[in-house]
Amino acid sequence: MEESGKNCIIFYGSQTGTAEDYASRLAKEGKSRFGLETMVADLEDYDFDNLDAIPSDKVVMFVLATYGEGEPTDNAVDFTEFITAENPSFSLDNDPPLGNLNYVAFGLGNNTYEHYNAMVRNINKALQRLGAHRIGEAGEGDDGAGTMEEDFLAWKEPMWKALAEKMGLEEREAVYEPIFGITEREGLTRDSLEVYLGEPNKMHLDGTPKGPFNAHNPYIAPIEKSYELFNVKDRNCLHMEIDISGSNLSYQTGDHIAVWPTNAGEEVDRFLDIFGLAEKRHNVISVKALEPTAKVPFPTPTTYDAIARYHMEICAPVSRQFLSTLAAFAPDDESKAEMTKLGNDKDYFHSKVNAHYLNIARLLAIVSKGKKWTNVPFSALIEGITKLQPRYYSISSSSLEQPKKISITAVVESQELPGRGDPFRGVATNYLLALKEKQNGDPNPNPFGLTYEITGPRNRYDGIHVPVHVRHSNFKLPSDPTKPIIMVGPGTGVAPFRGFVRERRKMVENGQDVGKTILFFGCRRSTEDFMYEKEWEEAKQVLGDKFEIVTAFSREGPKKVYVQHRLKERAKEVNELLQQKAYFYVCGDAANMAREVNAALAQILSAERGIPEAKGEEIVKQMRQANQYQEDVW
Ligand code: FAD
Repeated sequence: MEESGKNCIIFYGSQTGTAEDYASRLAKEGKSRFGLETMVADLEDYDFDNLDAIPSDKVVMFVLATYGEGEPTDNAVDFTEFITAENPSFSLDNDPPLGNLNYVAFGLGNNTYEHYNAMVRNINKALQRLGAHRIGEAGEGDDGAGTMEEDFLAWKEPMWKALAEKMGLEEREAVYEPIFGITEREGLTRDSLEVYLGEPNKMHLDGTPKGPFNAHNPYIAPIEKSYELFNVKDRNCLHMEIDISGSNLSYQTGDHIAVWPTNAGEEVDRFLDIFGLAEKRHNVISVKALEPTAKVPFPTPTTYDAIARYHMEICAPVSRQFLSTLAAFAPDDESKAEMTKLGNDKDYFHSKVNAHYLNIARLLAIVSKGKKWTNVPFSALIEGITKLQPRYYSISSSSLEQPKKISITAVVESQELPGRGDPFRGVATNYLLALKEKQNGDPNPNPFGLTYEITGPRNRYDGIHVPVHVRHSNFKLPSDPTKPIIMVGPGTGVAPFRGFVRERRKMVENGQDVGKTILFFGCRRSTEDFMYEKEWEEAKQVLGDKFEIVTAFSREGPKKVYVQHRLKERAKEVNELLQQKAYFYVCGDAANMAREVNAALAQILSAERGIPEAKGEEIVKQMRQANQYQEDVW
């Protein structure tokens, strides 16, 4: 900070990119509105033992997402361990250790999880304990209620006020200053070897990708086979087998695989078109950070086409704050007024934008009635649109059975929305659907009219490949295979349990003894979307009465039946299995199902053991703490 003359550092702990995006937005706003000299920093890249050396005329901001069961994001693990330790060892001998540190904190969480915003709460507590001074409130955004963006916007205004007061900052008229400089590279074309056409890094550009494969470096994996688990009108569900034998990747049953998607051609066209970039889409540009601490989020030289296709979430929800920035570059006064209104009025914004799942290009075309937004600096787009994120999938194979082949079970994201011509289509799952169609013989797949650059940059994904990496999770079978397990996984929530059942099946084939294995599965109809139906029968052949699947077909009877109802019908057995120290697993929908199942289990315990319901809830909590109750929900 000293070397680059900075007085504000914004650390982020981010898993899916939102916290990173908020950190960049704070940096930008701090600079343009208050003249703060800001820098954004990945928590992973810093040594924390000198946090105590930051003087009191500077400020540190923490933007921290909570992941899974109250855990830090991957890049914040070391920091969390360090700062929450009983006696973190700092570089100086201050008393209290962080007595000079001024900080600001915002957390990103989801209230449907047990440990809501645990990260920001724990870090805040630790910093306070070490004597640091918080400016403003520690904000909390709630993805569960769908109010993350609004919570962030509502938190930051009073925070800026408190910060301006504390640091004696004068607010000024915010003027847009680009963070990135764009240079057209006349001497290069997209055929030049040094031009990135979507390759994630230099090794991929050179055609020599090497491990370790991780969140910065995907493995371009062959898809061995792919098919649909069911195919009823407008609903597609994919099973894919991904071959990792050519890599040093490994996985354990219950881990996650991340798929690196590409945007649909139609959306790339729409995006480039509205910003007047369609004609020069293949021109080569270099992007440079105009200040030393900013990082260009993709490798360059590259093309506009490659950036929109491989590196930006051009289809994602639009940020209200970003609209205020874009208003200054509107093609006419009417569009400018509309953008300003959308940026300032949250209810208006919601009804016009969010409710229709508009992405940035669709929205701008509506606002300007088709006029192009050619005044928008490309830097503003790099700053305002998040980096395209890999999507996670619960691995549905068993590493005991097939250590070098990972399977995915994914439902294709598609939603009909009123007031929108075509349905909303998810980025990654429709790309996977196109890959499946290609693999099954269609030379030019276009699911729902969407086309993809399926063969990847420089055709390196040809032969049906998909870029992936593996993320290890804590969602694991008991180490003692004779322990009973109860699994609750409706819909695609069944994914990891296919892996669990196959693992136990393999164990029995290997002559091992396994405990009772009971799966609660739910879907609409036995004849419509009963995934892996045959496999469960085969598992039964091997596992005998050790395995049972209990089904809830929600649309077959006069009343809707869900997994939690079936669980209650089996209350006596569930309770007995838990008394035998069964592990209890839930996977799938975080918003409703996981919560209902948690409540149902507490009620079962209360009824079967003759204890108050609050005590039942307490037992479930203890089970979670002891890892006897595990969730893999999204
Ligand atoms: P996206 O394009 O990312 O859209 C997803 C949702 O985002 C939309 O439904 C919508 O609610 C919102 N959204 C996107 N764009 C807009 C917009 N412009 N305006 C408003 N809202 C918008 N899925 C599975 O099918 N199987 C699994 O086994 C599985 N396991 C998972 C495990 C983990 C740990 C996690 C975190 C997720 C898992 N998921 C799984 C979900 C998966 O990662 C993807 O989120 C899902 O497949 C949708 O991806 P997509 O790119 O197709 O959709």
